[in-house]
Parts: sequence; structure tokens; C-alpha cells
Amino acid sequence: MYIAGLAGLGLIVLVSIYKCTSGEARLAESEQCFFCDFAHRRQGPPPILEVETDEYVIFKDKYPAARHHYLAIPKEHFDSLKALNKSHVGLVRRMEQGMMEFLRSQNVNPKEAIVGFHLPPFISVRHLHLHGIFPPADMSFGNKISFMPSFWFKKSNDAIRDLEDREL
Ligand SMILES: [Zn+2]
Ligand SMILES: [Zn+2]
Repeated sequence: MYIAGLAGLGLIVLVSIYKCTSGEARLAESEQCFFCDFAHRRQGPPPILEVETDEYVIFKDKYPAARHHYLAIPKEHFDSLKALNKSHVGLVRRMEQGMMEFLRSQNVNPKEAIVGFHLPPFISVRHLHLHGIFPPADMSFGNKISFMPSFWFKKSNDAIRDLEDREL
């Protein structure tokens, strides 16, 4: 039983690592960051921006995990949640709020959606992005693992609680 559990956990970790490192290449510099390009409409072909504010934009994920899958990204470049502190709580709250409102506009109840962040090193693009996904029932086994609350994925309300405790 114990061995099977360990093997299961190992598989889960491997699947998550695979999900997060496949697809898009990682980019170190914000100048070469295509999410920065999207947010500032710098070069094409950009995704359609469903929502745009002074602080963030929301667009459809290129590789949707379910019928509805959107990303909210700040216009300012941050690698990930790890680059943030207490001073960013407001920004993350507003991104979360914007995602919730946008989901509602798509006839999705945000309470039933998966809304959260991947944690490094389990991030596919090194520019902070908040996922909003619905319905969870649409998701493949691999995606369910990839987006389950864990040390590689944090729900937005947990992320905000963590940031509130983080020193400046
Ligand atoms: Zn960026
Ligand atoms: Zn992610």
C-alpha cells in the first residue's frame, strides 16, 4: 500500500512537471517576454484581450484545459507569485476580482471555477498569470492534477492570504 502511494505521488509530480515544462519555452528577461508583449499589444499575433484595465489584461489560454480557460496577467512584469510581497496584495485581489467578474459575464459561477496560480518551478510561462477554468468536469486527468491545490498550484484566495503574511 505504502509503495503504491509513493509511486502514485511520484507519478503525479512527474505529470505536473511534464505539463509545466512542455509547450512554451521559458523566458528570463521581461524584454523578451511574450506575455509582456500581449499585455502591451506590442507584437502579433496577440490573443484577443477580453478585458483590459490599467493594471492587467484577461485573454483566453492558448491551450485550454476546459471549455472556459482564461488568464489574467499584470501589465507589469513579475516572474511569478514568488516575486511578490505584501505590497502586491491589492493588485492580486483586483486581478482575482476581474477574473471572477469576467467569468460571471461568461455565465460561469466563479465559485465553481478553478481560479489560481502555478508555483515555480511548475510554471509554463515566466510572467505571473492567474488561471480561471470551468467546468472542472471537462478536464483531463493530467490537467486535474496540474490544477489541484498543492505545492505546485495555489488557489487565488490562498495566494492572497499568503501574500498578506509576506514581508515587504
Ligand atoms: Zn512579462
Ligand atoms: Zn499555469
